[in-house]
Amino acid sequence: MGDCLFCKIVRHEIPASIEYEDDRVLAFNDVNPQAPTHVLIVPKRHIATLSELSVEDDQLVGEIVRRAAAIARARGISAGGFRTVFNTNRDAGQTVFHIHLHLIGGRSLGWPPG
Ligand code: AMP
Ligand code: ZN
Repeated sequence: MGDCLFCKIVRHEIPASIEYEDDRVLAFNDVNPQAPTHVLIVPKRHIATLSELSVEDDQLVGEIVRRAAAIARARGISAGGFRTVFNTNRDAGQTVFHIHLHLIGGRSLGWPPG
């Protein structure tokens, strides 16, 4: 996906504050953080929304979720608590159509979300 913002970050064509990288997954700090920790964990392969996932992606999604937990642990916010969110489509406010898990924490978070 040549014009996808997060594919460009994956290819290091636009800068990001990278937190973690391996062959399949990239994690970087959100440019507009909503909490002291706000990291986005993405698959390197372009997948637009959760609706496009197939059974072959189960391992990849597991790696993304476990990476969020590992970053939370490394940041020292695991015991206190953190939130992980995939926004999907309009009503959830998805603005970048390359799936990304938000890892948000470092402060007390309200529920339900707005
Ligand atoms: P969503 O609304 O769930 O699609 O989330 C998109 C997120 O991407 C928002 O939290 C944005 O602040 C974040 N974002 C947009 N552009 C960038 C960028 N260049 N680097 C890092 N995060 C970004
Ligand atoms: Zn993409």
